[in-house]
Amino acid sequence: MHWADKVAEELLRRGDKHRIATGITPSGHIHLGNLREMLTADAVRRALEDRGGKVKIIYIADTFDPLRKRYPFLPAEYDKYVGMPLSRIPCPCGEHKNYAEHFLEPFLESLKILGIDVEVKRADRMYKEGEYEKAIKIALREKEKIKKILEEVTGKKCDESWSPFMPICENCGRINSTKVTGFNEKHVHYVCECGHEGEVSYREGKLGWRIDWPARWGILNITCEPMGKDHAAAGGSYDTGKRLAREVFEIEPPYPVVYEWIHLKGVGAMKSSKGVVVPVREMVEVLPPEIVRYIIIRSKPERHIDFDPATLLDLIDEFEEAYTRKDRSVELSLVEKVNYCKVPFRHLVVVGQIANWNFNRVIEILRRTEYDVDVEDVKRRMSYAKKWLEKFAPERMKFEVRDIKEINVDFSKKELEFLRKFAEEVKNDMKADDLHNLVYVVASRVGIKPAKAFNAIYKAVLGKNYGPRAGYFMESLGTDWIKKRFIKVVELRS
Ligand SMILES: [Zn+2]
Ligand SMILES: [Zn+2]
Repeated sequence: MHWADKVAEELLRRGDKHRIATGITPSGHIHLGNLREMLTADAVRRALEDRGGKVKIIYIADTFDPLRKRYPFLPAEYDKYVGMPLSRIPCPCGEHKNYAEHFLEPFLESLKILGIDVEVKRADRMYKEGEYEKAIKIALREKEKIKKILEEVTGKKCDESWSPFMPICENCGRINSTKVTGFNEKHVHYVCECGHEGEVSYREGKLGWRIDWPARWGILNITCEPMGKDHAAAGGSYDTGKRLAREVFEIEPPYPVVYEWIHLKGVGAMKSSKGVVVPVREMVEVLPPEIVRYIIIRSKPERHIDFDPATLLDLIDEFEEAYTRKDRSVELSLVEKVNYCKVPFRHLVVVGQIANWNFNRVIEILRRTEYDVDVEDVKRRMSYAKKWLEKFAPERMKFEVRDIKEINVDFSKKELEFLRKFAEEVKNDMKADDLHNLVYVVASRVGIKPAKAFNAIYKAVLGKNYGPRAGYFMESLGTDWIKKRFIKVVELRS
């Protein structure tokens, strides 16, 4: 059984209405690693819906978190914003309402493209609009109890001045530099490292992460939540959250789905703070959404994923093979009713280049070579194939069919003889396999090594030593075209 179906069955034992929480801090580019959180939730949503469950995904953008440091991608002037909530820092490009929105907007666009339907909650607005007020009051009243639980679970002592609530200093705007000195029904008193002493309402500050999380479960009625393995580690924030949920907020904690990191091949775990990322917005420009989804959904959450842009085509081959046998991961990856037709993506990359990305020409080649074509789907995937080639493809996959005048490479006598004989032998009705076999037959007759024969073919068409698989390549170009081209090459050199 697929992992998402197992989670869905477990959840249905608890009830048939679910609210799955996801949360990402928009402090930098939201990347493929973060997407695992969203796609884990979405796969569970689809599995639940397939069983008649009612389910909603809530995406909580942690827009009220402080900027932890000046990241390498930020200009020096951002030093002064460290410690301030992300929603109150100016956007780096000047086009967005604030720093958080700068990273949030492209991510939300990507979620739409990926078919992940979410209710978006911005933490800064939740606090501003008083949604946390009750929880903050409980937390301040139960401070000693919370402190004891945190110390028991984490094994670490809290500071003497520790407080579950962090007021925002009216003077310096920072959220991580204040100490609570008292509170009443309306206000919380504080002193700040900047020297300021003052009071704020319950809407001008936030709960520390370990308290914020269980408070949020209660406020939003969360029943399930995917979480990175750091949160789920022994003594981690899920362990403290579970106890705080039951003993302080008097709610049941959500069912956890723990997931592993995504590593970028040769670089390491993706972390926005280190700048090691493939932004989601870039991924969804280059790859069809079903493939982006499949990269994540095909692996059990507890397995780490090595993402290697160089082997993406192998992964797409795997998807296409799995598609034909109605594999569950594929089913959970398809965004909407797409008629994924039987033209391999790999082949579109080759045919697209042969046709110089002329759509009608691509369709003509595919039809002539007897592919079962769905015009809409080919159009859709062809545009991805082109972008994939530009962005991710290894250099050796790129080629251009040259004009005969541009073929300036040298041919040996044997190579020319091979091309001449091949042109004589080639028949109009030959398919990719026949053409491939003919290369060996003619090469042996002429007395040239097959590798040299293939070189001669690529040189005659592309002006370089290598190219795509020769049989398919020649079939796509057309036997008639191949014949004329080889004769011409030989003529010009005799
Ligand atoms: Zn911006
Ligand atoms: Zn201050």
